Amino acid sequence: MNFYNLTAHELLSLLDQKKVISEDVLKSLKERVSLVNKKTNAFIREPQVSSPAKGAFGIPVGIKDNICIADELVTCGSNILKGFRPPYDAGVVEKIKAHGSEVWGGLNMDEFAFGSSCESSFYGPTRNPWDLERVPGGSSGGSASAVAAGEAVWALGSDTGGSVRQPASFCGVVGLKPTYGRVSRYGLVAFGSSLDQIGPITKDVTDSALLLNMIAGFDKRDSTSVDTPVPDYAKALVKDVKGLKIGIPKEYFIDGIDPEVASAVHEAIDILKKEGAVIKDISLPHTEYAVATYYIVATAEASSNLARFDGVEYGLREVPDRVRKTPLIDMYETTREKGFGDEAKRRIMLGTYVLSSGYYDAYYLRAQKVRTLIKQDFDKAFGECDAILCPTSPTTAFKINEKVNDPLAMYLSDIFTIPANLAGIPAISIPCGFDKKKLPIGLQIMGKPFAEETLFRISYTYEQNTPWHLERAKL
Ligand code: GLN
Repeated sequence: MNFYNLTAHELLSLLDQKKVISEDVLKSLKERVSLVNKKTNAFIREPQVSSPAKGAFGIPVGIKDNICIADELVTCGSNILKGFRPPYDAGVVEKIKAHGSEVWGGLNMDEFAFGSSCESSFYGPTRNPWDLERVPGGSSGGSASAVAAGEAVWALGSDTGGSVRQPASFCGVVGLKPTYGRVSRYGLVAFGSSLDQIGPITKDVTDSALLLNMIAGFDKRDSTSVDTPVPDYAKALVKDVKGLKIGIPKEYFIDGIDPEVASAVHEAIDILKKEGAVIKDISLPHTEYAVATYYIVATAEASSNLARFDGVEYGLREVPDRVRKTPLIDMYETTREKGFGDEAKRRIMLGTYVLSSGYYDAYYLRAQKVRTLIKQDFDKAFGECDAILCPTSPTTAFKINEKVNDPLAMYLSDIFTIPANLAGIPAISIPCGFDKKKLPIGLQIMGKPFAEETLFRISYTYEQNTPWHLERAKL
């Protein structure tokens, strides 16, 4: 039997009824990886699980390669971490193991999660299972591609400006960025510490709720983790949106958005209206500043977080042929020169620039102020509605190499996902149709802080009314 097309909850119920055993599921998944990973390059290396976990949740979870698993390689898609094996498990990995599940590491990503296409990995680009000539989105492109291709039943990604939701949208799967503080960042290699959140990438909304159940919760080792009770998210999987107020922000339906994307999103709005949701037009007036604000805050934090990779403690160490300055400075410089790719270098330069004295006030401080305005837009909007609905991305998956030489065009892929990170609010992307090229389209729903349950309720209701989550890429 082929298990790779099934969701985790379907597999769990088969396991429960003793219709299958976990050994068979694991074997089938491994065969699937050997068969299709040559095409997708979703896994940087074949996942290492020799014996399946026996716990209640005995379905391995794919792990993006910036989340630490003790003693296993973690590369962040970069040459600079070559050979690095963390001595500890990330908070989410501990939780998954505690639930009796195994972790499947090695999912490809843009280098240090910088990107929207999964092309900047040192280990080569990942491809979109719906069209191998196209990108899977990024930076968690490996996670989304693996789930869409059946190489992983479910997976974790990280989302700093859209990196769970945008690839989920491009690959026709479900991607959730939880509220900032809901899921521990301990053991997630930091990109933009005030924006990063780990989130589930799954085949449907039910799996998303189950995986969030596993990973959510307080962790004192992450100072921004929030100590509030974790509800049972599975209880939010109800087909009922009657009376829920859903806001449609006018700033998210702009010129330049692919008309097929806009029309799929409008059809989704109609479905929710028929189900009893109250649709309201709203405004998020500072949306146009979100991308610029993000690229100041995120690069500033990234340049500071990447300072630790200097050849001393982690991974790669390179020295020049001859002494240039001093042996120590030479080692730092050569390691960083050879270890980082172009996009990482670009971000380090941008980030260092906006933080440097003389420019700090003009850029970084100003960006922090605008970030507050963007957050206040959401506070105000959530005074009149329970959730906000819009496209996840202005387009469907683009071609490999189409945007690599135009960083600004690449940065605009995240125009609709970035505001949720700046405001710290939860947001989910769910499949809402296909364009004429049979490429998946994503619908984004954003919620109030810690209102993941509302997102699940709306997404589940929509999913129960549509067939999109049942479609599988043919590989
Ligand atoms: N594409 C955005 C960036 O390159 C977001 C990446 C992310 O969420 N990790 O910064």
